[in-house]
Amino acid sequence: MSVTCSIPVLGFAAFSGTGKTTLLEALIPQLVASGVRVALIKHAHHDFDVDKPGKDSYRLRKAGASQMLISSRYRNALMTETPDEETTFNQLIQRINHNEADLILVEGFKTETFPKIELNRAANDKPFLFPSDANIVAIACDSKPDTHLPLLSLNDISSIHGFILKWMESHNAQTATCDSLSPTMLSVEAGREKILSAIDVPTFSQQASLDDICHRVLATPVVAPLNVPSSTNSAMDGYAIRSDDIERDTFTKVGEVFAGSQYAKPLEKGQCVRIMTGAPVPDGADTVIMREQAEEEANSVSFDTRKGKIRAGQNVRQAGEDIRVGSEVFTIGTRISAPVLGMLASLGIDKADVFPTVKVALFSTGDEVQAPGTPPKQSCIYDANRFSLKGLLTKLGCEIIDYGIIEDSEAALNTTLANAMDSADIILSSGGVSVGDADYIKTVLSNLGDINFWRVNMRPGRPLAFGKLGNTPFFGLPGNPVAVMVTFLQFVEPAIRKMQGEVNWQPQRLVAITQEKVRSRIGRTEYTRGIYSINSNGQLEVTSTGSQGSGILRSMNEANCLIEVAPDVESAEVGDRVTIIPLESRI
Ligand code: AMP
Ligand code: MG
Repeated sequence: MSVTCSIPVLGFAAFSGTGKTTLLEALIPQLVASGVRVALIKHAHHDFDVDKPGKDSYRLRKAGASQMLISSRYRNALMTETPDEETTFNQLIQRINHNEADLILVEGFKTETFPKIELNRAANDKPFLFPSDANIVAIACDSKPDTHLPLLSLNDISSIHGFILKWMESHNAQTATCDSLSPTMLSVEAGREKILSAIDVPTFSQQASLDDICHRVLATPVVAPLNVPSSTNSAMDGYAIRSDDIERDTFTKVGEVFAGSQYAKPLEKGQCVRIMTGAPVPDGADTVIMREQAEEEANSVSFDTRKGKIRAGQNVRQAGEDIRVGSEVFTIGTRISAPVLGMLASLGIDKADVFPTVKVALFSTGDEVQAPGTPPKQSCIYDANRFSLKGLLTKLGCEIIDYGIIEDSEAALNTTLANAMDSADIILSSGGVSVGDADYIKTVLSNLGDINFWRVNMRPGRPLAFGKLGNTPFFGLPGNPVAVMVTFLQFVEPAIRKMQGEVNWQPQRLVAITQEKVRSRIGRTEYTRGIYSINSNGQLEVTSTGSQGSGILRSMNEANCLIEVAPDVESAEVGDRVTIIPLESRI
């Protein structure tokens, strides 16, 4: 019989003497540090007793209590006498409190059907179990068995730890649906990967005028139809000469060229032309001497070399030095910024093939949330999230369909979502996805599509719903105003950029020296709102914006960066180098 359990159950299968308990003893602290609450079931072959003869509990059991529950401030234990029959594996699993664990590890129960990691130590000279046990999902050993299963090093606990975290995520991704709140903490990175793999890249494109494509994304590469500049031209107002004539004292001025005109003949030795900035350099000429060095009398020109040495090729812009004809100037997926617009125009291009604008449906949930501009009601808060989100979406060039505040009812939410699925490319809501929030949201979402409720191991953030309603990606962001913005930046913005056609976008990351201790916790990604600046030594340094409550939206306004403390870092001390994510262009 296979195991039925809402949280992952993972066993360790090995012959005795392999070192199962020692390995578990080293592994459990790493799992706990990653935020995983571990429960353990161990099988013992002998008639064990955790009780001590003479203790009250022992005496009461011996007197005939078949269940003995003993409790103190720090722990409790239920001892159950099973004289007739051993409790089955499934019954044991059900006795674990599933709400207070993220993972059940099992030592023993080799013959039961449930996922296991096989442990094998070559020195013990025992056969591998995987050829005869289809439940083995990975092998930790110190040899090289012939298998397609993932191989882990028996002596590298962190590789086993890493495997288990990944395995739990995939396990939860398969089982977590609307009605089973995914119990495991997901890392920011794993969450983002899952989201991005579910987001499709755009499949059609449209021609649009340069006037309308700022911040949109190119759908076709741009190949230069001409050189920029189109001809070699002067970078100065001055005189053009031939570089093989540099040593000459006096030149004969044979003409004048202005920007937009041309000296038609090749320039001979002994000749110069007066030339203006941007005017094409005559054939044969390749060097321009600035006007300030020239002494011109009648048509005879000499140059004062005390005012500057003359070097062959100086003050000339080569044809194609900016953009060479035939070169691929922009690849597919380029975000059209101000210089891109300028460069397209400099190539004579007046329209471009771009991906469609992404339409975002947006709404807030919560009966306590009221629209700004309405008279304040008792115990209500104004809807900050819809407006901060609109600001973020506007920065990304999205079209916004604003559904306002949806009243707390199944019917209202159902209607809104059904409309949004029809009209938008992506749906964003805030509030209502935490544990303890009204269940009707989960019910409605599960009726319309396939949504996962995650606990992301991050702060601020944590609750996040993501999935698809029909084919439309849906994000249920947390309710707290800072958490909304931070989860948007970590998860929604990368997804929107992918939908817009941008390729492999990554936020800018810099390293700064922290002037304050930045607290975090192993396993968690912490985003502290920070202010970075350049100190007198030219180094970047960063301080926090002060109070970091996830309701303090002021912290987001005062910040010009997020300080990111990675999951493997406990906290950053004054003087430590920390990663910062600048926000200027994003919020
Ligand atoms: P929830 O995730 O719905 O439990 O919300 C968490 C917190 O965020 C609560 O204090 C809510 O009142 C607050 N909140 C929810 N939605 C909004 C909103 N649109 N604007 C400002 N605060 C909100
Ligand atoms: Mg709420």
